[in-house]
Amino acid sequence: MQTAILAAADLDQLIQLLIVEGFQVIGPVRDQHAILYDQISSAADLPQGWIDQQEKGSYRLEQSPNQAYFGHTVAANSWKKFLNPPRRRLWRASRENGQLVFQAESNEAPPLAFIGVRSCELHAIRIQDAVYIQGSHPDELYRSNRQRLFNVSVNCTRATATCFCASMNTGPEVSLPSDINLTEVIDAEQHYFLVKAGSPAGERIVAQLPTRAADQTAQQAGREAIGAALQQMQTGPRYFDSSDVKELLYRNLESPSWDDVAERCLSCANCTLACPTCFCSAVEDSTDLTGDHAERWQRWDSCFTNDFSYIHGGTIRESTRSRYRQWMTHKLATWIDQFGHSGCVGCGRCISWCPVGIDITEELLHIRAAEAK
Ligand code: SF4
Ligand code: SF4
Repeated sequence: MQTAILAAADLDQLIQLLIVEGFQVIGPVRDQHAILYDQISSAADLPQGWIDQQEKGSYRLEQSPNQAYFGHTVAANSWKKFLNPPRRRLWRASRENGQLVFQAESNEAPPLAFIGVRSCELHAIRIQDAVYIQGSHPDELYRSNRQRLFNVSVNCTRATATCFCASMNTGPEVSLPSDINLTEVIDAEQHYFLVKAGSPAGERIVAQLPTRAADQTAQQAGREAIGAALQQMQTGPRYFDSSDVKELLYRNLESPSWDDVAERCLSCANCTLACPTCFCSAVEDSTDLTGDHAERWQRWDSCFTNDFSYIHGGTIRESTRSRYRQWMTHKLATWIDQFGHSGCVGCGRCISWCPVGIDITEELLHIRAAEAK
């Protein structure tokens, strides 16, 4: 389908069409002094005119010089919360007349429409698909949410200081399929979206929007806007060559840098919970005092907890050093052997939300420098 132009004033029509189609629409909102993904009911819920400034252990919102709807970068939380909730009951059991009766939880929920998915986040969802759908034990709730998902992606036209998708080859321009792709363009006279449908469902929605054909000038403006985000990253301190990172880490499993980062890391697990690709979960059973009712719950887990590697009466990764090394080498090295691509998409969340400002890109530099020494 050809690229079309949708006036920014008509963006709400896209959201209303999705709601009429029965989707629960999730998009960025301004909440608790941050951008979060949450349910929205109109374009008025979007954080128009707000941008984020992220740095090591720091996240601030400020008003933008323009009225862009998507001038901010990735939200503090990620889309994984909606596809795979942080905590959910798997089943209940009760004893009735001496018999155990099991009741499975329903996976029925309204279909989701995400609006504002960035390129790095599409890559993160693809990674989670590999775990939850293509793995040997598919997760039925995830599969159901994912198969019915309507994805409206947005090309990034601005990067914040923690973004490094350009180093991981995951952005800022969307390269994976989505139902509709948007590029927001603002110049002195106009504010509009370049709109491109990427699926039959997307084409059906776009056909109902008040669009007009995009001329060469408008398309060039879109390319330049995305180019600005790319240039911000390429000229920033977190731009690096990631092509040999796997080998670098495998060569440096005993680097002194692991001791250095362990001195600072609190093992708090923030990085894993904020990360859009981390997928570990734990299962807990509980019974009531009568012993007649039991429940099984699944919740997100983290490789930074002591219990995570507890097996046969002992914890395998007792030290913070071993836990950080496990997390980082899994993200950037063993993940490639496991899934065929890196487990890091360069979204920068783990950098912003680390309470002591540990920066995965800086730790890589430390390891490289220690090896060179
Ligand atoms: S490791 Fe950090 S930068 Fe990479 S995907 Fe996870 S949160 Fe984003
Ligand atoms: S790297 Fe930072 S966010 Fe991650 S566990 Fe250590 S202190 Fe927490």
